[in-house]
Amino acid sequence: MSSNRTKDLSLENAPMTLACCVCGTPKASVWRVAPDHILGGETRFRAVRCLRCGTARLDPRPSDAEMSRHYTTETYARAEDRDGAPSELARRLNEYNRRLAARAAASLNRPVSESRTLDVGCGDGRFLAAMIALGGQAEGLETDPVAAALARRRTGGQIHEAPLEQASLPGASFDLVSLLHVLEHVPDPRVTLIEAKRLLKPGGTLLLALPNAGSLEASVFGSTWYPLDLPRHFWGFSPRTLARLVEECGFEAPAFRHFPLLFLPQSLRYSLSSKDRDPKGEVPASASEKGGGRTKTRVFLSLLTLSETLGRHFPGEVMEMTAQTPQSGIGVGGTR
Ligand SMILES: [Zn+2]
Repeated sequence: MSSNRTKDLSLENAPMTLACCVCGTPKASVWRVAPDHILGGETRFRAVRCLRCGTARLDPRPSDAEMSRHYTTETYARAEDRDGAPSELARRLNEYNRRLAARAAASLNRPVSESRTLDVGCGDGRFLAAMIALGGQAEGLETDPVAAALARRRTGGQIHEAPLEQASLPGASFDLVSLLHVLEHVPDPRVTLIEAKRLLKPGGTLLLALPNAGSLEASVFGSTWYPLDLPRHFWGFSPRTLARLVEECGFEAPAFRHFPLLFLPQSLRYSLSSKDRDPKGEVPASASEKGGGRTKTRVFLSLLTLSETLGRHFPGEVMEMTAQTPQSGIGVGGTR
């Protein structure tokens, strides 16, 4: 216990090494200190909050080598369909992506059948498959080779195994560029968004989905808020700071949807399990994610529908944002 405490205190006082990606200010105060809630382990990570604009960030940031230990390909493979029949987890993911694709299609300025989509960080390709099912063309970017192979098999489409900034795709070639639960993971969201804008045609649509660090859920659950997800989440935006960043990168008319309470069961579980966590900081085995169960699927789909409905009236812990590139193709980018 005492060694943990010493470690936490030294982390509280560790120097900050980064600046805010929205306003450029280095000054920040400690916001959350938490372990990797999925993989466990003794190390605790620190998120700080920009004193000027309120954007949260992981600071200090672990090395690339250390970060690679916090990503596992099991995340993709566990939802794979078995024996030709979708697993229950696959059913949930498919239905979520079907609804998301329908909303994305409605935000396009041309029929979906004439559209080209690029999904950045496409994972195992379920969103791409949902866009293709609506009649669109779609390709993806995925740096995890296992996930990229699954996406290729699922979509039959082109999956580039490169980060967005290194993929060298032709400019003005897509109607939709989506980053679904991706922007909070990238080293410099400003660089990523400027590249997304370059790839979009005039009047094209940017689609983002990510946690809302300014939500009530984030405040209530604190370091046990499931979407805090340290150290994988480098950045924590609110609708206000995200809109500012997106507009500064040359996009227009950011519009938000909110999904309250979507991760409530997981946050509650973290919150309860952290009370009886052993001194090594391990999450008890019962707290790890498990796959199946038709009841869980029914509960999940009911929660998803409830969240969609509530989100029309209240902000919440997950935000979905669309914004457009200017019709003229002329727009500023990269001014801070
Ligand atoms: Zn800031």
